[in-house]
Amino acid sequence: MLKPEDFASLYKDLESAPARFDCGKKCSPFNGGVPFCCDTGWVVPIAYRPEWAFLQKRTRLWHEFRPRSGSELKMVDEIDEKENVFIECRGVQHCERHNRSVSCRTFPYEPYFDTKGNLLGLVYNRVMEDKCYLVDRHRIVTRGFLSSFLRFFGRLIEKLPEEKELYMGQSRNYRRLMSRRKKPVVVLTLDGPWRAAYRGGKLIEPWTRPDPPESRYRPKV
Ligand code: SF4
Ligand code: SF4
Repeated sequence: MLKPEDFASLYKDLESAPARFDCGKKCSPFNGGVPFCCDTGWVVPIAYRPEWAFLQKRTRLWHEFRPRSGSELKMVDEIDEKENVFIECRGVQHCERHNRSVSCRTFPYEPYFDTKGNLLGLVYNRVMEDKCYLVDRHRIVTRGFLSSFLRFFGRLIEKLPEEKELYMGQSRNYRRLMSRRKKPVVVLTLDGPWRAAYRGGKLIEPWTRPDPPESRYRPKV
């Protein structure tokens, strides 16, 4: 069972940034100087209940997210409030690196599973795929980030096994989405990016095509 005090060490596995550069500098000029993932107008961080208890003891950076529109109210109503809570920080100018939530530390990545339940690497949370500079740039993520993310997730599912089921379902949905779009499923692994099969989800071959050039980054806002 996941306890608030577990987050002291779980956060230690998520200290390193995904890229060697500050990706916020790439996207924030297109959003009035605020990185898209730090703006609750675009995406609202979600915390585990024990994580929220841990953060509340440690900092005043966060408060519970207060919905401002019908769609936000619906979003808040739809989560399982025994397990999770939407939260909002006081803004980028007040960011405390050591008190960032799991969602801040992991965005835009998610664990990827094949249908046999093997954790093979990471894929993208595509909720802001047309805005986040990191999405579909498969060679940016550092090996250090990948290995610490995988270590973190392995430890998390020991304490919260239902997360594995959840992400196995998400990985299935991811394969369906990419298959519908006729786009490859690229999984970021410790051996570099690999293409995965739509059926069964196992890794097929290393991904060798280059990342999109810088000039293609023009987020729609
Ligand atoms: S993770 Fe994506 S949205 Fe967030 S700061 Fe980096 S590029 Fe911007
Ligand atoms: S805590 Fe920092 S990283 Fe997380 S949403 Fe706020 S400003 Fe962004």
